[in-house]
Amino acid sequence: MNLGSKIILIVTKQKDGNATTTFLKKTLGTENIEPAVTPPPRTSNNAFVKKPRLGPSKSRKREIPEGLWNKCPQCSTLLYDKELDENLKVCLHCQHHFPIGARERINFLVETCSFTEHDADMVSVDPLEFPAYAEKLVRDRKSGARKDAVVTGLGQIGTHRVALGVMDFSFLGGSMGSVVGEKLTRLIETGTQKELPVIIVSTSGGARMYEGMFSLMQMAKTCGALAYHAKQRLPFISILTDPTFAGVMASFATVGDLILAEPAARIGFAGARVIKDTTQSALPPDFQTSEFLLEHGLIDAIVPRKEMKSHLDFYLDFLMSGQKKILAPTE
Ligand SMILES: [Zn+2]
Repeated sequence: MNLGSKIILIVTKQKDGNATTTFLKKTLGTENIEPAVTPPPRTSNNAFVKKPRLGPSKSRKREIPEGLWNKCPQCSTLLYDKELDENLKVCLHCQHHFPIGARERINFLVETCSFTEHDADMVSVDPLEFPAYAEKLVRDRKSGARKDAVVTGLGQIGTHRVALGVMDFSFLGGSMGSVVGEKLTRLIETGTQKELPVIIVSTSGGARMYEGMFSLMQMAKTCGALAYHAKQRLPFISILTDPTFAGVMASFATVGDLILAEPAARIGFAGARVIKDTTQSALPPDFQTSEFLLEHGLIDAIVPRKEMKSHLDFYLDFLMSGQKKILAPTE
């Protein structure tokens, strides 16, 4: 076939054996014409191959030093980091609650120097040799002063000694693996043994699926320990913060004698999109927020971060008053 001809004839044979004919129109004389500007050949030492990058000085955006300012995702106000820290990571303009690390939270919840950490050196192993799990554990251990997604210990709130566990979302999404479950169980058992109220602040994406069944077992283990704690007529206060989901919500986080939450925290079991797809129905705009769950009876109170300590002191006064009578020697 002559490629330079005006019409190119292509004959193909289909599966059923019938031959089909396709005509491609081709104008004569266009094949060998060079473009007006010929691009340079692609070689590694050719400066024109890569588009030159504009330097920072040519950018029109205002330069903001990194690590000094934070933009509020709710009201878009630029907040000075130091001021934000002093305000317990709560926006000064719209009261949006930013995520906060476990240690920072413990610092403002308990009395100064009253916290003793337990099981600080307990670390997760990789029982299933799940791809990339070991690397993620190393990465997240380096990024903060905690070795897993929860910090536990004994501290004092007001006049009350408490067993306190605080989860940290920055460590693998606050997921509950063997270490989180074990640390919380030991904390609850210490609370039972020492006749102390237990307070757990949750923030979690759920069970740590890198550990498979080992992570799911923690749901039953923590709840079992809480059942023994409750038998001693000791209170358990569960505090839900943004976000708390899945395996943690389906276990210890929702069995508190008192369930508190921070304002506008996202709380639920499955994600909203999954529920929407499954039920094929429109969900209310505030679905899976602490306000929605307060209205529907899952949560007992919404307490802003800055008032949490004083509220806990008040609730513990009430919850432990009966306990004090039991413990007091009879005259
Ligand atoms: Zn704001």
